[in-house]
Amino acid sequence: MGIPKWYTISVDEKQAQTSPPNESPSSAGAAEPVYVYEYDGGLYINLTSRCPTACEFCIKFSWDYMYRGNNLKLPQDPSVEQILAQTPADLSSYREVVFCGYGESTYRLAEMKTLAVAFRARGARKIRLNTVGLGNLINGRDIAPDLGTFVDTVSISLNTVDPVQYIKMMRPRPEFRDRALDSVKDFIRACVRSVPQTVVTGVELPGVDLSGVRAVAQSAGADYRTRPILD
Ligand code: SF4
Repeated sequence: MGIPKWYTISVDEKQAQTSPPNESPSSAGAAEPVYVYEYDGGLYINLTSRCPTACEFCIKFSWDYMYRGNNLKLPQDPSVEQILAQTPADLSSYREVVFCGYGESTYRLAEMKTLAVAFRARGARKIRLNTVGLGNLINGRDIAPDLGTFVDTVSISLNTVDPVQYIKMMRPRPEFRDRALDSVKDFIRACVRSVPQTVVTGVELPGVDLSGVRAVAQSAGADYRTRPILD
């Protein structure tokens, strides 16, 4: 698939702004970045601020990397030890533990696995990964069998199956752009084979055919969920 004419340098600049490992927190203020935060009965793990996409609906741009009072903008990736130091000793009271911040956790596959083992030892009842689905391109191999050894659920943000709309909406990094959508669909099928539960999600946006997203999920054997847009 070629790159659409309207894919301008400004989009590449936006993408570049979304990978801030060496930046200090901006107007997120003096709040220290958090590696672990609670939401709706779950415990969320903020592994990285690196992202292979710059989704046009992402709230990190308008919320300046804040999420419900937590600064999720990481100047650099935290170590396993730093994350565990912020993690409660007993995780049995949480509905689930979720790898999810304003970045893509599959950049840190090995650390995720180490953490998942530690979380189980602390009583975690369920472990979920929220991902944009480009982990195979990031790691250069099929990572679904690995994920199946330590997560219970993978939730994959697909959002559209239209190739041109995918590029416009998700804004993948240049090195992934041409293969991104096909790779996400391959990843969905691989997760269904390897992970206990695979969920495909689509964000409610004008002009998006979510029935197509649902159809891809169902044909792969995955569950499907529509997500409301946050603003
Ligand atoms: S993958 Fe998630 S964190 Fe990254 S740009 Fe998209 S919505 Fe934002």
